[in-house]
Amino acid sequence: MRVVMIAPPGAGKGTQGGLIAAHFGIPHVATGELLRDHVARRTDLGRSIEGHLDRGELVPDDVMMDVVRMAFVDAKAGSGGYVLDGAPRTMDQARAGYVIARELGMLADVALHLRADDHELMRRLLARADLEHRSDDTERVIRKRLKVYHRMTHPLVAWYAQRGILVPVDAMRPAEQVSRDILAALDARRPLVGDVRE
Ligand code: AMP
Repeated sequence: MRVVMIAPPGAGKGTQGGLIAAHFGIPHVATGELLRDHVARRTDLGRSIEGHLDRGELVPDDVMMDVVRMAFVDAKAGSGGYVLDGAPRTMDQARAGYVIARELGMLADVALHLRADDHELMRRLLARADLEHRSDDTERVIRKRLKVYHRMTHPLVAWYAQRGILVPVDAMRPAEQVSRDILAALDARRPLVGDVRE
């Protein structure tokens, strides 16, 4: 099973991505986590992107696509499945990701769209800010991240709908209800064994 997640910050993509990964026995590739790990380890990449993360801005597409390509290569060497949480986040990333995935025979089966309104997202993120102390969970940066989502990432929903792989889920409900719907929808779309795609 190969899944990409399109979701605004605070919609629960980390939680749901983890559950999907456990259910299907596939790696959970969370780009935000990977980037925060680089920042924490003070790698060259980490130092070059720290400011973007702190300001709630996207890191450059070319940096991101290197990270995604490596994740696809690792996933291919493993079970062949993945749940990609946090990318693509721009149309350019979606197109570049499509080309990389096609080259590797790793095209997504499903684009999962978690839907929630800004008011609820803001409430959740501010609650999380008290618990997790992420540098980008302040009210000002959250507003910025929501704006970036609407402008840069949300248009991908229409693109995946055109490709016929979009699965929208109402993420305004408690996490268990959301995950039940997600797993039922994904199970129904599980590729058949031996299914050959480009
Ligand atoms: P997340 O944990 O998914 O909310 O991501 C946290 C931050 O990491 C974002 O606000 C961006 O600065 C950066 N980031 C994560 N994924 C991407 C991506 N695909 N493209 C650009 N920036 C990203």
